[in-house]
Amino acid sequence: MQPTLQGTAVENFREYLRIPSVHPNINYDDCVAFVQKQAKSLDLPVQLFEPSPKHPILVITWEGTEPEKPAILLNGHMDVVPVFPEQWTYPPFDAHMDEKGNIYARGSQDMKCVNIQYLEAIRRLKLNGIRLKRTIHVSFVPHEEVGGSPGMKEFSQSQNFKNLNIGFALDEGIASPNNDFLVFYGERSIWHIEIKCTGKPGHGSLLPDNTAGEKFTKIINRFMEFRAKEKARLKDPSLKIGDVTSVNLTIVEGGVQRNVIPKELNANFDIRIATDVNHEDFEKMIQEWIRESGEGITCSFPEKNPCVENTKLDNTNPFWVAFKQACDENGMNLEKGIFTGGTDSRYVRAAGIPAIGFSPIINTPVLLHDTDEFLNKDVFLRGIEIYEKLIPAVANV
Ligand code: ZN
Repeated sequence: MQPTLQGTAVENFREYLRIPSVHPNINYDDCVAFVQKQAKSLDLPVQLFEPSPKHPILVITWEGTEPEKPAILLNGHMDVVPVFPEQWTYPPFDAHMDEKGNIYARGSQDMKCVNIQYLEAIRRLKLNGIRLKRTIHVSFVPHEEVGGSPGMKEFSQSQNFKNLNIGFALDEGIASPNNDFLVFYGERSIWHIEIKCTGKPGHGSLLPDNTAGEKFTKIINRFMEFRAKEKARLKDPSLKIGDVTSVNLTIVEGGVQRNVIPKELNANFDIRIATDVNHEDFEKMIQEWIRESGEGITCSFPEKNPCVENTKLDNTNPFWVAFKQACDENGMNLEKGIFTGGTDSRYVRAAGIPAIGFSPIINTPVLLHDTDEFLNKDVFLRGIEIYEKLIPAVANV
């Protein structure tokens, strides 16, 4: 019996899920072989770039009838986050499908589903003899889950990327627990700040001036006061977490012995700066907190994302207009927002390319990075049909 298109799609999805491309120390060899096999089955060329050894980037290309026009990038990452297998109902790399059609695996929502949906939509369009104006590039990138490096961060700045001549990109979104499809047009900027407080060491029985601990407390309080203000803003129901700046104390270090006042105490913060905040002003504010908290305090930025302009969701962006229209015609309700975390879209946007984060997953609990991550077969298959409409819409702009 010939396999059906739906059967092929589900089996390709499950085969991809069974490749344990999980952090840390990922070996991407099986992903490369899988993507090359998929390209062959679609009769499309695939390019393999390896700007950093062992961190391959694959691009499957479907040339358009007007290849000189800027192309469409359909991006997805191959890596997945670690699992605690003992907490899972089914082994996380078996892609077990239960009687309801729920496929359990790490990566089923984030985001191996999306790359397979891109490819299966293209398979169907090709079988129907359809040609699109603009060239489509489907990319498979590594290491998104550890900040996109080595991966899209470097690739987006490379000549190989420029050669793809991309005019618009789609990348991952997130599952929606209700009937609304979520679309993301921007991301907050990630700043990781390390504050080092130095002071006079001494005996733990005394009350000396100029201790690291006093400064440490002051500076942490400044960050926490700011955090409380941002948290309070969320009482406004029109604001979501992506609309405000988040601040969290994530690592504290220091001290040698309980009865010794330490010479140094360090505090690390994870900050996600809202897209409407001026970065210079924000940094000035932090420098002011440091100045107020005493001498001998320094700060450094292990991560400091630049300000990236949001993708416009209005009539000035013809790709958005086409995307929206295709969604409207298919009765899809869209909920627009700023993405809570970080994705590779930020690098694509930083390269000046409009990008939308979108995963066609509705009526599904949000289980990315969680135990028992799953995607229902029918939701997955509906996603392919959605891309069968969306890809031609944006590629024929
Ligand atoms: Zn992801």
